[in-house]
Amino acid sequence: MKFNILTLFPGTVGCFFKESIIGRAVENEILSVNIVNIRDYSTDRHGKVDDSPFGGGRGMLLQPDPIFRALEDIGDTGWVVHMSPMGSRLDQRRVRELSLIETVTLICGRYEGIDQRVVEAWVDEEISIGDYVLTGGETAACVLVDCVARELEGTLGAGESKAEESFDATGLLEYEQYTRPASYRGMEVPDILISGNHEAIRKWRMKRRLLNTMERRSDLLADAMNRAALSDEYMALLAEIEKEKGDEGDTGDREGL
Ligand code: SAM
Repeated sequence: MKFNILTLFPGTVGCFFKESIIGRAVENEILSVNIVNIRDYSTDRHGKVDDSPFGGGRGMLLQPDPIFRALEDIGDTGWVVHMSPMGSRLDQRRVRELSLIETVTLICGRYEGIDQRVVEAWVDEEISIGDYVLTGGETAACVLVDCVARELEGTLGAGESKAEESFDATGLLEYEQYTRPASYRGMEVPDILISGNHEAIRKWRMKRRLLNTMERRSDLLADAMNRAALSDEYMALLAEIEKEKGDEGDTGDREGL
């Protein structure tokens, strides 16, 4: 998969592709990244790429011409995304869909953003990474590339897995995890995880996923139910939890969960 990233700060984005899992994906040619410095397309002799907004107001906007020229120079821009707080919020479902596209071009805004004519002429989709405002689209672009790259075959190594993770096909959150030592500063790992009973552990994990989702993100659980995304086994465990919660109302007992 190829990403073109248009930015005024290529260094901010560049370092992200040099290390760890994403660096390895680039090295193994699972992912290729073309970082384009918008300033290289300025026709101003001082390299200026921004100006004040028409109609007044504070701050500066990225002018259309350098961005138009950068996009024209790329040629095959594929699916063009403007990173913007006004875009639709990125979620794992959209991440999976994006990972199926061959070429994606990300436009990173700065200052007050970019001239709307870029959006009108070039942009297929505007994506936000959350309801907050960043200083620039670079961090948002890195977030997008990171989670999309994880979906690509071969990005994760043998010891890394996407199975049973938050937002997998079930849409549920993950279960709690622990590693050695089993006892640490008086805090113990749940007995079941060191019991060696794999079937009981599997069930415990499924149940914890349901409970975590119920307690932290009931919207996700409702969505999973609407999509009929939960297996019969999950549905049976859910019924069990509901029953236990009912009983708990009587006794206050939550042992085993
Ligand atoms: N004036 C814009 C507004 O109110 O919507 C905010 C501009 S912001 C300071 C500068 C740039 O950061 C934006 O053009 C966009 O590219 C990027 N950005 C900021 N927040 C973002 C978010 N939540 N998701 C994606 N990109 C974001």
